[in-house]
Amino acid sequence: HSIFDSVPQAPPDPILSISAAFRADASPRKVNLGVGAYRTDAGAPYVLPIVRKFEKHFANDPSTTHEYLPQDGFTKFNRLSARLILGADSPALNEGRVVTVQALSGTGALRIGFAFIANFIGQRVVYVPNPTWSNHRNVVPQAGLPATRSYRYFDANTRGVDVEGLLQDLSCADEGSIVVFHGCAHNPTGADPSKDEWRRIVQVVASKKLVPFFDNAYQGFASGNLNTDAWSTRLFVQSGMDMFVAQSYAKNMGMYGERVGALNVVLRSPKAVDAVRSQLKQLIRAMYSNPPLHGARIAAAIMADEDAFRQWEMELEKMSARIRTMRTRLRDALIKNGAPGNWDHIVNQIGMFSFTGLTSQQVAFMRDKYHIYMTSNGRVSMAGLTEGTVEYVADAMKDAVL
Ligand code: PLP
Repeated sequence: HSIFDSVPQAPPDPILSISAAFRADASPRKVNLGVGAYRTDAGAPYVLPIVRKFEKHFANDPSTTHEYLPQDGFTKFNRLSARLILGADSPALNEGRVVTVQALSGTGALRIGFAFIANFIGQRVVYVPNPTWSNHRNVVPQAGLPATRSYRYFDANTRGVDVEGLLQDLSCADEGSIVVFHGCAHNPTGADPSKDEWRRIVQVVASKKLVPFFDNAYQGFASGNLNTDAWSTRLFVQSGMDMFVAQSYAKNMGMYGERVGALNVVLRSPKAVDAVRSQLKQLIRAMYSNPPLHGARIAAAIMADEDAFRQWEMELEKMSARIRTMRTRLRDALIKNGAPGNWDHIVNQIGMFSFTGLTSQQVAFMRDKYHIYMTSNGRVSMAGLTEGTVEYVADAMKDAVL
């Protein structure tokens, strides 16, 4: 007998297991619409030229070292990262009531944030939208909090945000509960509240004394504009409440595997700033001591330099424009081939994904007959489509819904 004999098999991750199945498929026609990473119109991974430029620069600079960072990461990166999401003129930043720590991309920022809540705020209930990015439900209990509860978010009939249901559910939450919001480009639905709807949401959150936790995995990637995509987060910060803001540079800088991200804790008053930072550092020390340097060094260099920043903004416009073009192409191809139903939601949704409305049976049918891969909830990565595959995918979708 080994001590490991009784270890139960974990279920496959609903998102990551798709790439494995895709790789194992030998069909030359196979298409991966499961991957949450940008692809060029040739279906290839993309390294932003500005990222490449700084990689070369640092590799060739003899003063580049690989020393340890402090527990809370690269100070210059943290400062610029907070400014990117909160805005250069943010009163919270100017009043010195934001604590920013570098994190292992967006997931790591969530993980540290929830661990901090479990340790220092208490056993609060965490509400996540229904549906949400599946990993939210893993991270919260692993960080030491009770299992998540959900609030109504998506209305399958209108294919938009069920704002009345959302407001009702938040009104019923206990005071002090944590509420996860996707700052923009809601994953998986691609449906975001309008500005007016966000204003109604912030009112309920304030009056019920809830604690918002903003998850920003797509800043600049949704609309193509960094400020537009930060609007909802900034609205909540302006209301002056205690809150958490997670950031990821995976999609917007294309540095998926470098794990570049940050957690910002926004405090109502600067009083507890030093204590909060000290505890975050202590948590990090016990988990992984300190974060990786490479990606943060590049991200900071891009954000610090005016020209580089402008080039980055242009890249964001380009990547998000290709995704929007693919939305139009797919919708048009479905109209052209006569697939039954209304497909306008594909162009109305925002961000990397489209929530097509395909059922899990239809998803399985497309995988088995056409070698097209997507998550079982019918979520399609628009970045996985190309001019060369969009008609093939549309025809397969037509076959699936007929
Ligand atoms: N949050 C949401 C909603 C996401 O979609 C993702 C990535 O898919 C993340 C967080 C975190 O990604 P990463 O840890 O790669 O930054």
